[in-house]
Amino acid sequence: MKLLNSLIIKMVQLFPKSFIRIFASRYIAGEQLLDAVRLVKELNSKKILATIDVLGEDTTNVEEANAAVEEAIRVLQTIYNEKLNSTLSIKLTQIGLKIDYNLCLHNMERILDVAKEYNIYVEIDMEDFTCTLDTLKIFKELRKKYSNCGMVMQAYLRKANEHLNMVLNELRGSSVRLCKGIYNEPVEIAYKGKQEIRDNFIKLLDFLFSENIYVGIATHDVKLIKGAKELIRKYSKTIEQFEFQMLLGVKVDLRDRLVSEGYMVRVYVPYGTHWYKYSIRRMKENPKLPLVILLNIFAKRG
Ligand SMILES: Cc1cc2nc3c(=O)[nH]c(=O)nc-3n(C[C@H](O)[C@H](O)[C@H](O)COP(=O)(O)OP(=O)(O)OC[C@H]3O[C@@H](n4cnc5c(N)ncnc54)[C@H](O)[C@@H]3O)c2cc1C
Repeated sequence: MKLLNSLIIKMVQLFPKSFIRIFASRYIAGEQLLDAVRLVKELNSKKILATIDVLGEDTTNVEEANAAVEEAIRVLQTIYNEKLNSTLSIKLTQIGLKIDYNLCLHNMERILDVAKEYNIYVEIDMEDFTCTLDTLKIFKELRKKYSNCGMVMQAYLRKANEHLNMVLNELRGSSVRLCKGIYNEPVEIAYKGKQEIRDNFIKLLDFLFSENIYVGIATHDVKLIKGAKELIRKYSKTIEQFEFQMLLGVKVDLRDRLVSEGYMVRVYVPYGTHWYKYSIRRMKENPKLPLVILLNIFAKRG
């Protein structure tokens, strides 16, 4: 399915951006922070938590990285002022990881200083494998000074367990978001089979639970959710000790069911003008993409 979607996406990318924006809209709150605020308030009113993400990645100059830091700080101030039940999610390449390691570390400290003042938690997203080791290193460094940040583990990585052990001490009293991983990595780096990724996800979750680490179980895969529930029972976890996490616009019915069962669910709410790359990744994962595209083409003609 992902292969078919990749082919369709290649074709779709030839279309004008305004056309792609139609499919992208379900996955993003809008272009402005106000759009995200409106959406988070709606989620919070349904007892759903949020994590706000300012879209953007792979920043190539210091000015852009600084602008991204300023915007992240604006989000933190808004979360505080509007009393939103939300964390902030951030990609390190957006604040300079690919420009200079120390610049990125410094920028993260600027963000965490403000977040600490407002008592807001920050989740560091995990990007492609060229960023993994630096992200782990920065997280380790930040944890010496800050308790209000967590990071992400990707279950498709063959070395995920090794990486986890590198930051195990720092994860105590912090949190980890466990997801499958979205980037198209080489086979030497990442598992490719659906089931082997699932197996590694469950193995990692079992380990994290056994170590009493708070986990954001970030998946829409019903088989993984079933497996996670079995582990929750095995370790007699209470609802304060983990949460489910989902992406905006994905599996809303499943999300609402988890909420009605009494689980904590957090939704990833991206906003901003740099919606293109993020949306393309989401579209590739949508199993109904061919149908959605066809319906939209006919709807346009009709
Ligand atoms: C809160 C959150 C944060 C994340 N952060 C990161 C990160 O920092 N780094 C990273 O590499 N990855 C991140 N991811 C993405 C993750 O790695 C997966 O790529 C993504 O969640 C899809 O995997 P899945 O476990 O839902 O399983 P899948 O097998 O991909 O999906 C399960 C089912 O969900 C539905 N579904 C999934 N995606 C879509 C879609 N786009 N549109 C419509 N239906 C869909 C389909 O019915 C599908 O069969 C994050 C995911 C979440 C939920």
